[in-house]
Amino acid sequence: MSRINLLMYHQVGDFPTRMPSHRGQYCHRPRFAAQMAMLKRCGYSVIGLDAAVAGLRGEATLPARPVVLTFDDGYVDFLECAAPILKAHGYPATVYAVAGLLGQASSWVEPEGLRPAPLMNAAQLRQVHEMGFTVGSHTVSHPRLAQVDNRRVAEELTISKRMLEDVLGSRVDHLCYPYGSHDIRAVHAAADAGYVTGTTCARAIATPADDLLTLPRKPVSQGNTAFGVLWKLIAKNTPRHPPIRRS
Ligand SMILES: [Zn+2]
Repeated sequence: MSRINLLMYHQVGDFPTRMPSHRGQYCHRPRFAAQMAMLKRCGYSVIGLDAAVAGLRGEATLPARPVVLTFDDGYVDFLECAAPILKAHGYPATVYAVAGLLGQASSWVEPEGLRPAPLMNAAQLRQVHEMGFTVGSHTVSHPRLAQVDNRRVAEELTISKRMLEDVLGSRVDHLCYPYGSHDIRAVHAAADAGYVTGTTCARAIATPADDLLTLPRKPVSQGNTAFGVLWKLIAKNTPRHPPIRRS
């Protein structure tokens, strides 16, 4: 059976190896480089989201030990730190951008006591797209979709898709729910908006039994060495909540 590990990263950069909190937000650059080298050394095949979709639908044969790399929020440090390492390995990856905050900062982290970090502007996002990476939507304004009304859910999904498609001049098929926050309304709205996949933070391996609009991911924490990531890939990880599926 096709089983795919999706890994979730946020910022990659020259942070201390141990931040006091919110460690899923940061990945130290040398550690990231070691994790990427480990994937190759241990026989993992890094594939793009479109290839993952084809595999999960049974339309294509997946390579051995498939892994999808995702980067939330669209930080400038993706371009500066992560992209050169990914390119050196020939790895595809998906970056989820907050369409209404291009060229601004991750202001939503402020209430959590974190310093907002710069987000890529339209030109930088186009550069990422031209480098062959996939750009997906992370909504317009990064809300918890399960906590906003139906109209706002629909707007966050449809408007961000259109805005990013205008920026890139190409289709945007992939969505990531901010904070992993989603409910059945959000999943239906994602389908109505025309998304092919939606990713969550459910900490499990993706299989054909998953709804493509609620694909689980495993977060990489700053404390994870390359061995830690390897362990995460091997571990079963049971999701904290039963996955939402459209019936
Ligand atoms: Zn986010």
